[in-house]
Amino acid sequence: MSADPNDACARDGCTFFPMLVPVGDWILPAAHCSHACADYVWLERTLAAAPRTNATPDALEAMEELRQLLDERQAPTDVGPLVEF
Ligand SMILES: [Zn+2]
Repeated sequence: MSADPNDACARDGCTFFPMLVPVGDWILPAAHCSHACADYVWLERTLAAAPRTNATPDALEAMEELRQLLDERQAPTDVGPLVEF
């Protein structure tokens, strides 16, 4: 396995390798190692773009707990998707 940091998951602090996704006849690396990391980054961006309210500190605290949960994983899929669409 390559140790090139450029190959790691796009979420800050995550060292897993991106998951592979089938695109037509190809298997390509995604930007993130798991749905959990992709969802985390999406939540982080959504929260950063949202107007600040009384609920913002609670949301930031919840994000910090989520980040710790993701950082403690032994495998990318230890935590499933965070957002259901
Ligand atoms: Zn990741």
